[in-house]
Amino acid sequence: MHHDKQDLKEAAEAQYSKKLRKVIAKIKKIIKSNDIAGSVVLYEPGFSEYLVVIDPIYSKIRFGDKPGQMVIMDDLQRDYYGDEKLRRESLEGTMNMLIHMANMNRLLFQNFNNMAGQVEKRADFGKLPGDKKEEKPEAPVVQMEKANPAGKICVEPGCGEPAVDDFNGMGAWGCQKHLDEWYSATDNLPTT
Ligand SMILES: [Zn+2]
Repeated sequence: MHHDKQDLKEAAEAQYSKKLRKVIAKIKKIIKSNDIAGSVVLYEPGFSEYLVVIDPIYSKIRFGDKPGQMVIMDDLQRDYYGDEKLRRESLEGTMNMLIHMANMNRLLFQNFNNMAGQVEKRADFGKLPGDKKEEKPEAPVVQMEKANPAGKICVEPGCGEPAVDDFNGMGAWGCQKHLDEWYSATDNLPTT
């Protein structure tokens, strides 16, 4: 097969989605300008992009130059001015960040994995259309909680009002008032 330079260039460009890269760049700016840590996965058909930010000001870890390499800044004199208490607090803050990230990502993994299993069961991949050898019982329909918020309470501390929607799809149920507040807070974030 013949490839000229243009073909190769197009093939290389097709390895990623420009749209996802653009959105990831915007999200990265928002995370960085708010000095927070984050872990983000974006998807559109055929492509996904991920972003991990672990270096807010209090964090004592950074990614190294090589993939998968992590640097821990733990030099008592250089990184903490000789202050052992500051050293301990800094490492505890870093540890807390990592535990939150690990717990939330584990929860996301479990949910996505469970959903994929349910969809796979229903689709019965590998069976050709029109191929009727045995009638299998239908996979149960997954009841998305979102369709029925009955009994859910707004998670804003001290609110206690009935919730109407799940802000993040992961259990951040809110009453209308607090949902409006949470959404309007996102309007004030720098996006460019
Ligand atoms: Zn509320």
